[in-house]
Amino acid sequence: MSVFDAVVGQPRALAVLQRAVADARRDPPGSGMTHAWLFTGPPGSGRSVAARTFAAALVCPDGGCGHCSECHTAMLGSHADVDHISTEAMTISVDTARNLVLEAATAPSVARWRVIVLEDADRLTEQANNALLKSLEEPTPHTVWLLCAPSMEDLLPTIRSRCRHVVLTTPTTADVTRHLIDRDGVDEAMAAFAARASMGHIGRARGLARDENARITRAATLSLPVNVGTLGTALLSARELVEAAVERGAERTKGVDETERVELARGMGVENPERPPAWARSDFKRLKDSQEKRRKRATIDELDRDLQDLLAFYRDVLVVQVGGRVSLVNAESLPNVEKVAHRAQPEATMHAMEAILDAREKITAYVTPLLAVEELVLALRAS
Ligand SMILES: [Zn+2]
Repeated sequence: MSVFDAVVGQPRALAVLQRAVADARRDPPGSGMTHAWLFTGPPGSGRSVAARTFAAALVCPDGGCGHCSECHTAMLGSHADVDHISTEAMTISVDTARNLVLEAATAPSVARWRVIVLEDADRLTEQANNALLKSLEEPTPHTVWLLCAPSMEDLLPTIRSRCRHVVLTTPTTADVTRHLIDRDGVDEAMAAFAARASMGHIGRARGLARDENARITRAATLSLPVNVGTLGTALLSARELVEAAVERGAERTKGVDETERVELARGMGVENPERPPAWARSDFKRLKDSQEKRRKRATIDELDRDLQDLLAFYRDVLVVQVGGRVSLVNAESLPNVEKVAHRAQPEATMHAMEAILDAREKITAYVTPLLAVEELVLALRAS
C-alpha cells in the first residue's frame, strides 16, 4: 500500500512525484526534488489529491506508506508541517498570501519538510501573487510549495517559471470505475455507471455513487430535453433547473457562512451575530456581501455541471442519430436519448449543443442564470 494509491490514473505524474520523494530523502536532496511545484489539470482530475499525497509522502518517514499517522494527518490537512489552503471564495487575498509566506519561513517541526498545499492558486490576486513570489525566489531550505490550478496560464509567468510543472489528465472511465470499487467499496454496476456519467470527474463520480439525491438531480436534468414540448413546460423546466442549482449552491456554502459569522462576532466581541450593534454593522454587511458572491459562484458551478450533463445527453443523441459506435455516456437514459434522436435531425442536435455551450459561457460571465437558461430551453425547443 502507498499513499499514492489515492491518485487515479496518472502514471506520468506519479513517476515524477515518486522520483521526487526518493530524491527528497537523500542528503543533500537529489535533482528530482525542488521547492516549488505547480499541479495543473482539468476540474475533477484530482489536482488537490495528487498534491496532498505528495505532501504526505514528503513528511512520512517511509516516503508515503499510506498507513502511518503522518500519512493520515497530512492527507487530512492536520499534520503540523503540512499547511493546506483551499477556498470557496472568489479570490485569495494578499493578507492570506503574506501569512503563508511567514508560515513558509519557519522550519518544519517534526518532519524533514514543511509543505504548503495551495489549492485554487488561480484565485490569487495580483498582489497576492507578488507576495508569494518573494518566497519562491528565495526559498527557505526544507519548505516546499505545492500550488494547484486548472492551467499554467492561471498564474503569473513569474510564478509559474519558478515551479516544476506536474500535468494531470482526465482519468479514463475504466480507471475511475476501478478506483470506486477498490477504494470506496462501491459495487461494480454502480461504479461503472458513476464513472461513465461523471465523464472522468472523480469527485462527481464519487458523489453520484454515494448520494442518491445527486442521482435524482441528474436524472431530472436529463429529462429536460423531453420536457420542452410546450412553451409552458419548457419555461417551467428552466425555472426548476435554476432553482435546484441555487438550492444546492446555498447548501454547499451554508456551513462556512455560519462559521465566518460566528468568528467575526467573536473577534469583534459581538454577542448576537444575527443582530449586530450599529458600530459593527458595516463589518457584518461586508461579510454578508462576500458570502453572497461566494454563494453565487457555487450556484454557477452547480448549474454549469447540469449544463455539462445536458451537453453529454445531446452528444449521445447525435451518436444515435448518426449510428456511431462509441458508447453512450447516458446509457441508462437510452429511451429518452432515442426519443429526442428520432424527433430531429443531426443538424438540429448540433444547434442544441451550441446553445448549451453558449449558455455555459453566459452563465460564467454572470448573465442572470434564469435568463440564460430560459433562452437555452427555447433554443432546445426549436431544435
Ligand atoms: Zn506513512
